[in-house]
This record gives sequence, C-alpha cells and structure tokens, in this order.
Amino acid sequence: MTPGLIDVHAHIFEHGTDIGMDPNLAGVKSGVTTIVDAGSAGSGTYDGFHHYILPRSHARVLSMIHLGRGGLAYMPEIRDAKDIDIDATVAMVNKHHGEILGIKVRAVGPAVREMGVDLIKKAREAAKASGTRVMVHIGDPLWKVEPTLTARLLPLLEPGDIVTHLYTGAPGRLVDDNGKVLPEILDAQQRGLIFDIAHGRFNMNFDVARRLMDKGIVPLTVSTDLTPGGRDDMLKSMNHVMNKFLALGFRLDHVIRMATYNAAELIGMRDDLGTLAEGTTADITVLEEHEGDWTFTDSQRGTLKGTKALAPVLTFKDGVRYDVEYGPFPWGWLPNPRP
Ligand SMILES: [Zn+2]
Repeated sequence: MTPGLIDVHAHIFEHGTDIGMDPNLAGVKSGVTTIVDAGSAGSGTYDGFHHYILPRSHARVLSMIHLGRGGLAYMPEIRDAKDIDIDATVAMVNKHHGEILGIKVRAVGPAVREMGVDLIKKAREAAKASGTRVMVHIGDPLWKVEPTLTARLLPLLEPGDIVTHLYTGAPGRLVDDNGKVLPEILDAQQRGLIFDIAHGRFNMNFDVARRLMDKGIVPLTVSTDLTPGGRDDMLKSMNHVMNKFLALGFRLDHVIRMATYNAAELIGMRDDLGTLAEGTTADITVLEEHEGDWTFTDSQRGTLKGTKALAPVLTFKDGVRYDVEYGPFPWGWLPNPRP
C-alpha cells in the first residue's frame, strides 16, 4: 500500500488533441490518483480541457498550460512568435488559479529555429507574470535541435522551474556526443531547478541515465508522458516507468517516493497528498511486488535487465475504490519477459 501515485507529466486532452489519453485509463485504472496534464492545452483551448476533461476524470487533474496558444492540438505547436500570446496565457492561468501550475514549453523544432532561446524567455515572462513556473521539455527526436541549445537555455531558468525528459537520448540531451555530462545541468541542480523524467515514447535512454546518475543527477519525480501512441509502444503506465527505475538500480522506497511524496512536493500539495498520514486525503494505491527475470527497453531500443517489478492492484481516490484495468500488455501489467 502506497500513497496514490501522482503522474506529473501525462497527456489526457482526449478528443481535443490526437495525443490525448482516456483520463481514467491514465488515471485510476492504472493506480494513478493525480495527473498533471503537461501542456496539452494552450490559452485558445484550455477552457475546453477544463470543461470536458476534468468532470470525466476520477483522478484529480492539474495542468501546465502550453505557451503556444493552440496547445498540442497541432504540431509543431509554435512556428514563430505569432503563435504565442503571453497576455492570454496569463489570463487563463488566473482564470483557473490553483489548477494551472505552470507554463509548458517544448524546446523543439521550428520555434527554436525561429526564436532561439527567446522562446524560453517568453515562457519565463509568462511564468513570472502569472506567479507560476516553467516546465521545459528538452529532447527533439523529430526536428533535431542543434546540440548546444539545452546548454544555452538552462541558465535562463529559475529555481523551481522544471526540466522534463531528464534522461532523453534525443538531440538536446544532457550529455554531449562524447558522453560527457553538460556542466550546465550540474549548475542547474545547484540552483534548485527541478528534474522530471517523462519517459514517453521518445525520451528515455538508459545509457544517458547512467551517465547522469554517475554525476548525481537524479530526478525529483518519475512520470509517464503518457499518450496513446506511447502506450502502444515504449511506455505503458506509471508502474512501467517505476519498474524501469528499479532496473536502473534505484531502491524501491526511492522509486515510490519519486512517484508519490516528491510528486506531491512538485505540485505543492505535500501536506495532503503523497502521504498515508492520518487526517490526509485518502488517495491510496495498492501495488504488488513481483520477482522475475525481465528485459526493459528504452527509446533507442537499448535494453536493461530487471528482477523486480510492481503492478497496480487497486486504487482509492478520496476514499472511493476503483478497480485497475487488465493491464497494457497481452499478459497484464508485468513487463515482457523478452523484448
Ligand atoms: Zn509530454
């Protein structure tokens, strides 16, 4: 029994974007009691997200609003500065105060080609004006940003800002072509930036993970970046990303902390969530621990052996019981014995 799992980076704007998961499949049916949607909606679409998705989700829903006005309804979502409306973004954060926790921006594609790190400065401006924080997506497998971009953008971020896709192997990653860790990420850690995993389909690499772990760069939170495409492919669920971290050598209690207590800290709800303390909200996930011989795969098809795995069994959100679904694999929740 653990505190309810908190996924700080998923995509649940179902029918509003083509990367939107069924919020309950991403949520209570997978042992997750709180979901942060990471920028599926922008100022032009956020009301739709709020109006249609929140009532459908049994899990608590919070969000990052996308800096681009259309969110992720189309991609690339920011082609140039005209796709950004800071005033409208700030107004939407104020309208949904407490629900929108920050400004999401992806350091990818045409936006950085057109605007360079001004893109990040705009996100910072919106965060500052709304009293929130920035969540920056690094890693660009599609448009392949130039390799120094991440080193140049990290110094622009402020304490409390979130770097998501910490262990990405895509261009924009935190190790250079010789496998050396960028000094800017060590500096970012010193300055109090927050690191999140957001495994997803394209942004997890075991070799990059090991190189960063060797330098003490570990995430505050593990999260899914769940989308229907990713779920059919590389990353299935919250327990799946947790299992990969067990295989990387993280201790069980640390992995659970990254998915509960630390995530509650990130969303500013540590007094009430991510804990089983008496008097707090009854968000609880029952997980089963299994022993076996499993092979895990990363986004570049690198593999990793693991002997421990967790599977969700039952979810309680606000004291209400929900059954989990059958599981994302043909054989249920546990990892594939062979890739
Ligand atoms: Zn994402």
